[in-house]
Amino acid sequence: SEFAEVDINKVVSDTLALLEHQLKTSRVKVENHLAPTLPKIYGNTGKLQQVFLNLFLNAKDAMPSGGTLSITTRNGRAVEVEVCDTGSGIAPEHIQRIYDPFFTTKKSPRQGHSGGTGLGLAVTYGIIQEHAGKIRVDSRPGEGTQFTMEFPMVRKAV
Ligand code: ADP
Ligand code: MG
Repeated sequence: SEFAEVDINKVVSDTLALLEHQLKTSRVKVENHLAPTLPKIYGNTGKLQQVFLNLFLNAKDAMPSGGTLSITTRNGRAVEVEVCDTGSGIAPEHIQRIYDPFFTTKKSPRQGHSGGTGLGLAVTYGIIQEHAGKIRVDSRPGEGTQFTMEFPMVRKAV
């Protein structure tokens, strides 16, 4: 696959633009906190877009009566991305299984749901591994969920 220098802020913005109408229709308010200067990462733009698409659609599904999706990018030890929602949260007994292929709590593709194949986070996890990144989740049932990702930054030779 093709890896090149990627601006994560641009991937986040482009993915949000794709979902803008759908999120508005679902009464999901988007809050962007994108770092004004962010080092590039080595990545595959299409695959990274798939990661954010999966996370944003899961957030939307978790907020059937609307809420807030907030995305933060940060220039830290690595390039950090947080995706937060004010949705249902994840039950403690499910949290160990969310990255398992075919694990889903979405019974059927009912109205407003983007589907319940249970593959989104399995694919997401694999893509982040390919990027030498990390992903972790913090969730409070009834309050919301936060996914935090880290990607190694490209360091310029000096
Ligand atoms: P799918 O979306 O097809 O169910 P995923 O792999 O994307 O499959 O997610 C697996 C499960 O993890 C979901 O069915 C849901 O139970 C849980 N989940 C993932 N993201 C969230 C979220 N933001 N809020 C609440 N639950 C979530
Ligand atoms: Mg999903």
